[in-house]
Amino acid sequence: MTAYERPLDSVLETIGRTPLVRVHDAPGDVRIYAKLESFNPGASVKDRIGRFMLERMLERGDVPAGGTIVEPTAGNTGIGFAIAAEQLGLDAIFVVPERFSVEKQQLMAALGAEIINTPTEDGMDGAIERAHQLAAELDGAVVPQQFSNPLNTQAHYETTAPEIYAALDDEVGAVVAGCGTAGTLMGLARYALEQDSETYVAAVEPEGSLYGEFLGEDREEGEYKIEGIGTHNVETNELFDPELVDDVYAVPDRIAHEELKRLAREEGHLVASSAGAACAAAKRVARQIDAGTVDAPHDTIVTIFPDSSERYLSKGIYRSFEEWTS
Ligand code: PMP
Repeated sequence: MTAYERPLDSVLETIGRTPLVRVHDAPGDVRIYAKLESFNPGASVKDRIGRFMLERMLERGDVPAGGTIVEPTAGNTGIGFAIAAEQLGLDAIFVVPERFSVEKQQLMAALGAEIINTPTEDGMDGAIERAHQLAAELDGAVVPQQFSNPLNTQAHYETTAPEIYAALDDEVGAVVAGCGTAGTLMGLARYALEQDSETYVAAVEPEGSLYGEFLGEDREEGEYKIEGIGTHNVETNELFDPELVDDVYAVPDRIAHEELKRLAREEGHLVASSAGAACAAAKRVARQIDAGTVDAPHDTIVTIFPDSSERYLSKGIYRSFEEWTS
């Protein structure tokens, strides 16, 4: 949390221990709680993997002291890695597809990182390929690769999940989270299923994304506006383990947008589109638990609000749906 009773030595010590806050728009006796990850110093869930992955990689010798990390990222990971890299004495280069928000790219640069843009039409695959090329050309450079590195999942297994279980006295019935790399959901799911193998686990993706194919569901690929979650190529999502997941909810842009606006207006949360999607999906799971169509060991659902809407004001996040998507 942001309030500490003792002075801290480094901004890295302010990562994690974020608040877990009730979402009040829930049916019957079902309770929904959201973990507010914008309370991290870089204002997103990705600060957790920035610190965790880079510390572990330095310890293991995966990256040399004073070396360079080169990472393909939609932005929040860049910010999280940039904060940790500087504090841990590493250089950082980020490869970002052009379509992602300018705020994020400005913040990465302010934190001392170098940014390289790849064409929007090459997608995340194009950014991943370019990152590997760059790392091969530079001495002491490595790609942490959040899309395939198990340390991404491990960061949430060791920090996010235990924080949630401690706050709720271990009474968690369902875990619902958006999937970009799927590190957040996989870390939560692994921990949750170890506590109680009946815990209901739901992944969230934008309509137009293909995660549902992992569970044999039909998906039609399309563009979406929701940022930070979803996939156009499931081969890149190496961390996603369908065995741990009961369902994948595809949320349309319009629903995510309505929900993120409602969360601001009614509940005081300045959160972005992936949180809107996660909350809409959590409410759907809540209705199913309430109706008895989904079994969960407790009437308590946990979801994640990964970042803040302030990062997307230039994209018209609080304007009309038509303006936001145009
Ligand atoms: N929401 C936002 C805004 C993000 O930047 C990300 C990370 N891409 C996620 C959700 C999903 O997190 P993960 O990569 O752990 O699945």
